[in-house]
Amino acid sequence: MKRVLVTGAAGFIGSHLSHALVERGIEVVCIDDFTDSYDPTEKLIRASRLADLSSVEFVRGDLASMDIHSHLKSVDTVFHLAGRAGVRSSFSSYPSYVHDNIVATTQLVRAITDVARPIRLVYASSSSVYGDAPRPFKETMDTAPISPYGKSKLASESLVLGAKSEKVSVVALRYFTVYGPEQRPDMGIRKFIIQALLNQEIEIYGDGRQSRDFTYVGDIVDATIRAGMADVSGIAINIGGGSTVTLLEVMDVIARLRGKELRLHFGAFAQGDVMHTGADLTRAKYYLDFCSGTSFSEGVAREYAWLEKKLSDVGALEVVG
Ligand code: NAD
Repeated sequence: MKRVLVTGAAGFIGSHLSHALVERGIEVVCIDDFTDSYDPTEKLIRASRLADLSSVEFVRGDLASMDIHSHLKSVDTVFHLAGRAGVRSSFSSYPSYVHDNIVATTQLVRAITDVARPIRLVYASSSSVYGDAPRPFKETMDTAPISPYGKSKLASESLVLGAKSEKVSVVALRYFTVYGPEQRPDMGIRKFIIQALLNQEIEIYGDGRQSRDFTYVGDIVDATIRAGMADVSGIAINIGGGSTVTLLEVMDVIARLRGKELRLHFGAFAQGDVMHTGADLTRAKYYLDFCSGTSFSEGVAREYAWLEKKLSDVGALEVVG
């Protein structure tokens, strides 16, 4: 890898990935459209940190409508992370999911197929393609997504895998719930930590016994870079944290960091949320030599420290004491 394209580079995972690639001495072309999926200011701040680096070229554009060809010059690897994420809002705003996931991926795949030299495409797919499957989720299982988000990720994944040729090598990584500093504001762990820091009641969908295979963002980045260099094409590979944690256990970890008992409020289960997730990591180990290196408590402590500083910088913690 000498020069790569990262789509969705202003996003939570894309920004971490772009910095890690720069640290490895790789030139990075970044594309992002700062969509309104959440406060675009967060994306603009991440983009400006990247744009300041000499080996980064940052381009604002909508993959679904921009000219992608000119940004693929000398690029040997494309990491496609741009997309509309999040299960719950996909029920009310499906057209945005079709646009940012399916149409954008179609246009990107088309442009990559036109490149006259060998090129590698790594796609950020999702564990949501499995739906409520029995654990552990294996890549050979039938996929049965239960949300519009999961369906749009599965459609995009098949567009990517279908582009495999002698010239284009492709792999789809099925990420399992990613957390860590810069996590999206709609995601559970970030919301729970903020509510704990502000001494607010924590809102839990369901009884808290649902579980997730949480994956620390640094481990996701490691797996994604490994996939950029791996000699495997045309398959999906699970990337998970290696252990499954219930929401009640998440609360215990946050309560220990906060040093006090949390006030929990249990509401109805959210539409589209599966009960449990858990990755079979045999393929990740075999093809990428990947295994997750960050324990859940260590990863949450890093996200906690990031959010504590963020709230303290705006004076919010002085108010709550
Ligand atoms: P994110 O929303 O923070 O990042 C996605 C970025 O893509 C955003 O900055 C957005 O502006 C950009 N984008 C969206 N549509 C675009 C378009 N049409 N053109 C250009 N840019 C566009 O999300 P994230 O959590 O960093 O997720 C990154 C990828 O990983 C997504 O594809 C998501 O589906 C996938 N994924 C994430 C998780 C997770 O737990 N965070 C789990 C599974 C899969």
